[in-house]
Amino acid sequence: MTVNVRTFARLADAATALSQERGARFLAGGTLVMRALNEADPAIETIVRSTDASLSHLAVSSGRVELGAGVTMAAILAERELAFLHPVARAVGGPAVREAATVGGNLFAPTPYGDFAAALLALDATVMLAGGFGQRELPLEELLGRRERGNTLVASVAFNRPAADSLRFVKVTRTHPKGISVLSISAKLPLASGRMTGARIAYGAMGPAPLRAKAAERALEGRSLDAAGIAPALAVAADGTLPADDAIASAWWRREILPIHLRRLLLGAGHA
Ligand SMILES: Cc1cc2nc3c(=O)[nH]c(=O)nc-3n(C[C@H](O)[C@H](O)[C@H](O)COP(=O)(O)OP(=O)(O)OC[C@H]3O[C@@H](n4cnc5c(N)ncnc54)[C@H](O)[C@@H]3O)c2cc1C
Repeated sequence: MTVNVRTFARLADAATALSQERGARFLAGGTLVMRALNEADPAIETIVRSTDASLSHLAVSSGRVELGAGVTMAAILAERELAFLHPVARAVGGPAVREAATVGGNLFAPTPYGDFAAALLALDATVMLAGGFGQRELPLEELLGRRERGNTLVASVAFNRPAADSLRFVKVTRTHPKGISVLSISAKLPLASGRMTGARIAYGAMGPAPLRAKAAERALEGRSLDAAGIAPALAVAADGTLPADDAIASAWWRREILPIHLRRLLLGAGHA
């Protein structure tokens, strides 16, 4: 089987090529696409690449963060201003994977992957989609919720920089330090006068794509982060989730352990 490789200097042209061919697949860091190619995945007829410099653009200001879709986990770990994301980036595979694995690829990585995408969801990120006729912004949640994300090309993601220490993350895995997620939880927990206001909680590996824990978020509103305050959120922790049975864990097990890890995360207790 021959696979065509098409490389474009402009992201817009790559987006057009991608939208025109059913069997076209965008290649970013290639940690998953190259594996599929090596396994001769018949669904891939054309590889689309782009050398557009905007893909590796990384900008951090006091209020806003912008990450080109081609920014790697290693590049995030090298940026001190993104220290709040380091625990998340460090949880993606081992060192070799992190050198190649990109932000954009993580948004499309099948469950149970997508740890970084879940953190972006907790940060209320938006994505910029590349297209032949310009770019279009939409909430990441909308992109992740689409049943068909096939030939969409993400140019970048952006989000407001969270207050210091307000983003918490845990990845539950059976093999340390670089196993695949049983589940992951990311939470942005803004406090005003000791009460939660506008909490964002997102799960990885608890559905077909990373998803928000909206019932738990609502239950936390106005509550304090102590055992009594978080109890209603724990009671609805698994609402709206649809985890898979896979080689890593059963759906039942994922639902069973979710409130335990959410409890520890919310109370700020360390994870083993
Ligand atoms: C050994 C190993 C361990 C791993 N561990 C983890 C882990 O712990 N946590 C985790 O979350 N993931 C993990 N992964 C999965 C993967 O490495 C990451 O999710 C990574 O971020 C994917 O990025 P990539 O650039 O390599 O994607 P690619 O392999 O290049 O692409 C993956 C998919 O995303 C699409 N895509 C890529 N970029 C874009 C874009 N800009 N717009 C639209 N579509 C795009 C591709 O077409 C393809 O369908 C692991 C993979 C391996 C092989």
